[in-house]
Amino acid sequence: MYITKVLKYVEGLYPQQVEFRQAVAAMLHALTPLLKKEPKYEKHAILERLIEPDRQVFFKVVWADDQGKIQINRGWRVQFNNALGPYKGGLRFHPSVNVGIIKFLGFEQVFKNALTTLNMGGAKGGSDFDPKGKSDAEIMCFCQAYMDELYRHIGALRDVPAGDIGVGAREIGYLFGRYKKIVDSFEGVFTGKNLDWGGSLVRKEATGYGAVYFAQEMLEARKEGLEGKVCTISGSGNVAIYTIEKLYQVGAIPVTASDSDGMVYDKRGIDLELLKKIKEVQGGRVEDYAKHKKSAIYTAAKDYAKGTNGVWSVPCFAAFPSATQNELSEADAKTLLQNGCKCVTEGANMPSSTQAMHVFLKAKICYGPGKAANAGGVAVSGLEMAQNAGMHAWDFETIDQKLRAIMKDIFTSSAQTATEFKDPTNLVLGANIAGFRKVAQAMIDQGF
Ligand code: GLU
Repeated sequence: MYITKVLKYVEGLYPQQVEFRQAVAAMLHALTPLLKKEPKYEKHAILERLIEPDRQVFFKVVWADDQGKIQINRGWRVQFNNALGPYKGGLRFHPSVNVGIIKFLGFEQVFKNALTTLNMGGAKGGSDFDPKGKSDAEIMCFCQAYMDELYRHIGALRDVPAGDIGVGAREIGYLFGRYKKIVDSFEGVFTGKNLDWGGSLVRKEATGYGAVYFAQEMLEARKEGLEGKVCTISGSGNVAIYTIEKLYQVGAIPVTASDSDGMVYDKRGIDLELLKKIKEVQGGRVEDYAKHKKSAIYTAAKDYAKGTNGVWSVPCFAAFPSATQNELSEADAKTLLQNGCKCVTEGANMPSSTQAMHVFLKAKICYGPGKAANAGGVAVSGLEMAQNAGMHAWDFETIDQKLRAIMKDIFTSSAQTATEFKDPTNLVLGANIAGFRKVAQAMIDQGF
């Protein structure tokens, strides 16, 4: 079979790229019914062409720390596919980053971006640089050194990076500043920029807000809602914070947050202002939240039961994994179901392991895969590009409404596609097929 052949090929060529192989396998399995029905994709070798990025840049990043010691990190930009528009996708700075992780993220981005219906191709980049504990001067020095190579490969109509884990407004400022200096051109080469110099309202909130909008769509289709419901959230970055904010706005009760060191459970609801202060102003840890809040229970990650993430042991109606890949195991998925969880919405990229995903699909709960559910971030990035190109600055309400409409569209096209293939509750199948069809048709139209 076509899929088996391609999967074998990926396994043979990239045995060490575990996350990339996981993302490709999940995608191809979801495409099975489409590929059986439509021989044109095999004829045009679409899968073989899609699993290899158009271009993959690897470079060293040399910078000096505050002691003047020379440091070396590795940098990547993987431009996966530009059939639908300029390459588009974030940069991740985290010590775990390697080429397999960047490739999995870039691969996912292609189809996520297609689902937004905006004209964006897919890419991802990053470095194994660890921003944790670095001074502002060190962050700037690193970002400048990173851009000294990256600038050759990007441009407003060519490749438009943004943030991801470890890359927020501050890093984008330093990266953009260096780019501008080198090429002497003020252009929309980044999204997630500061509002005063070309950024878009709602970009910061977009992934979290979008995930909640997506959850509402899934639930509404089953005559359910989030009002008054307990929700658990992992992570404490941009995605988690604005998921919590939107959950409060729709009347839900978000009770957890976490980071790599541990989690807090605040039964009465997470104190959003406190969390924002700790994370956005002080750059602190979730443990600091518990120190300031009597009602909160802190559990260190080392005390989680083996093979589990403590966040998912808290009973909830809806779960929002918003931290990182494979943070939700099969055991976690089973615990969630046992505790009555009815809805899982992925704010992070591929947070559920393959086995966990199957547990959710089998149980037929509302399950929104990241590719669809977290597309709000890149969707507002697309709106930022549109504003930059037209020299406009739209107001908050206008952008929020567009975001809401895009998330609704993504849900509708995924759900309709799932129904078309006789598996109506399977949004993994629906989202993958809907995204793939768009990209594949563009590739066929444009020739090889
Ligand atoms: N890193 C985000 C994502 O995973 C946003 C990418 C972007 O805005 O380009 O979709």
